[in-house]
Amino acid sequence: MTTALPLVQRSAADLSTVLATGETTSVELTRAFLDRIDAVDGSVHAFLHVDADGALAAAASSDARRAGGELLSRLDGVPIAVKDVLATEGTPTTCGSRILEGWIPPYDATVVARLRAAGLPILGKTNMDEFAMGSSTEHSAYGPTHNPWDLDRIPGGSGGGSAAAVAAFMAPLAIGTDTGGSIRQPGAVTGTVGVKPTYGGVSRYGLVAMANSLDQAGPVTRTVLDAALLHEVIGGHDPLDSTSIYEPLPLLEESARAGATGELDGVRVGVVTELGGEGYQPGVQQRFDEAVELLVKAGADIVQVSCPHFVHALAAYYLVMPSEASSNLARFDAMRYGLRVLPDGVEAPSAEEVMRATRDQGFGDEVKRRIIIGTYALSSGYYDAYYGQAQKVRTLISRDFEQAFEQVDVLVSPTSPTTAFRLGEKLDDPLAMYLNDIATIPANLAGVPGISVPAGLAEEDGLPVGFQVLAPALADDRVYRVGAALESLLQQQWGGPLINPERLAVS
Ligand code: GLN
Repeated sequence: MTTALPLVQRSAADLSTVLATGETTSVELTRAFLDRIDAVDGSVHAFLHVDADGALAAAASSDARRAGGELLSRLDGVPIAVKDVLATEGTPTTCGSRILEGWIPPYDATVVARLRAAGLPILGKTNMDEFAMGSSTEHSAYGPTHNPWDLDRIPGGSGGGSAAAVAAFMAPLAIGTDTGGSIRQPGAVTGTVGVKPTYGGVSRYGLVAMANSLDQAGPVTRTVLDAALLHEVIGGHDPLDSTSIYEPLPLLEESARAGATGELDGVRVGVVTELGGEGYQPGVQQRFDEAVELLVKAGADIVQVSCPHFVHALAAYYLVMPSEASSNLARFDAMRYGLRVLPDGVEAPSAEEVMRATRDQGFGDEVKRRIIIGTYALSSGYYDAYYGQAQKVRTLISRDFEQAFEQVDVLVSPTSPTTAFRLGEKLDDPLAMYLNDIATIPANLAGVPGISVPAGLAEEDGLPVGFQVLAPALADDRVYRVGAALESLLQQQWGGPLINPERLAVS
């Protein structure tokens, strides 16, 4: 029975009920999560900054509102953690970089403003690869996050902090951002749920940009229903983001609840031929295949669908993304934000010399690598050959999706080709690191929504495997319906959620 679980292990949906019945208060709940952070974050390092006072003050306001009978939302009083790439007024925002050390934003990102307006106390800011560049959180300038399932392994990236915080019961909910997989891949390797919404479905205002045309914020949770509830809080049009979509959000909670009945009669599911098989860890492929069988039992019609241009997605991404990143990161000029380094032995350094010294010390190797690649790809004479070509491939990938969605309602694949690898294993091999996102990147290039749902533990290493569901742009409701159906069918088999404290290395 879920009601017998300690507070920190319950879903956000459950916690909202528990708050409503008066079984606990938001202050008590927020304290429980802060205590849990105190107890285990020394070994996990999911947080870069814990805002105990701010969270408790927000919780006290929530309790006062509840006493007065005036709630701001269903999740009023339920605490949350936020990836350190979103601006939070009055609390540090570093993007995992030295160059932003000490920067306190004077404003909230729209996502953060919406969390506050819905009454969710913010526990703190979570660790990430520097400027969201990576798949392991090892590129954080503040040290890596450890996977709560096995502390010697990576929690995925770039949003490993948010995923690890949720997996280790330090927060019931978190916000991540996904430019090429940074919500879904950490979800896969930590046994949590991660959703990348339709591009433009959640505001990017105040989200420190890596690649504007790809970045998208979204929910990190332990259940599909919780992700839907959180998505409804943060999503919807924002006049402050010029790429924000005008359309209202589809019915997400309702779709998650419909899916949870485990019935998928007539839903057409396409298995993407190019995202599986060779190069995928056998235990990952096995759990994926079994999950597809479950969808068949739930009434779905399964077909194999080829998306021939997906094989070029990684190459196109690693031109488009660094091109945009190189331009975005030009704003870190030692004048406007954070760090300023004066060059050694120069008496009256010029602005350019200060800039050079600051960027040299403030940026890590991966960030410098991408600035160089992006600058090269955009340089005159090479622009058409690299950036221009990549944009054409991007169009072909969007067309693959369009053609596929003429035949099926959703597409599915493993989220990540492997389970969590060991810390350090791929750090010196950028290409091996980039391959982690082979199955997630097509969705970013085309702007379509995707979810990663836990599919079980791989036989060879006992580590979590993620199942990805992709849907057409604006049809985010479909990923919730199919995701919730799979979750409920799998949990019937497992006899409960995949994550439980006995399975973790930090119980
Ligand atoms: N791992 C990918 C990269 O390094 C994706 C990162 C992300 O989604 N922020 O770019």
